[in-house]
Amino acid sequence: MSYAYNAEMFCDDCANAIKAELDTAGYEDIGDTNEYPQYVGSKEADCPQHCADCAEFLANDLTTDGMEYVQDTINDDMEAGCIDSVACKTWGPFYGISYQPSIEAALKILANSIKADDIIVHDALDVLSQALEGVE
Ligand SMILES: [Zn+2]
Repeated sequence: MSYAYNAEMFCDDCANAIKAELDTAGYEDIGDTNEYPQYVGSKEADCPQHCADCAEFLANDLTTDGMEYVQDTINDDMEAGCIDSVACKTWGPFYGISYQPSIEAALKILANSIKADDIIVHDALDVLSQALEGVE
């Protein structure tokens, strides 16, 4: 769950620390996110949010654009070999989104995973690639 304060998002612990500081300094909560951390729960956003202080994942709800953003980021990270990225390790499992390669990317992955001397499999992939070019 999260708090909004000064145009940033914070986890419960960090928001409570900020509130304690503000309370000590004599600030009052007047319900304004510019003045005092305001609880916003798991408010929907266009991307996964993390605490501005400690980087904890805030498990916010996502818009349709946000879900597409997570899918694209997971695909990019997986194809770049960054399988330990925050998108792959944290966002994907939380939002139920997993890697979905394009047909071209899937063929490239297969081609890269085959031993160089496995000619018969390379030939089969070439046939598939050419067949797919004909389809598009
Ligand atoms: Zn935090």
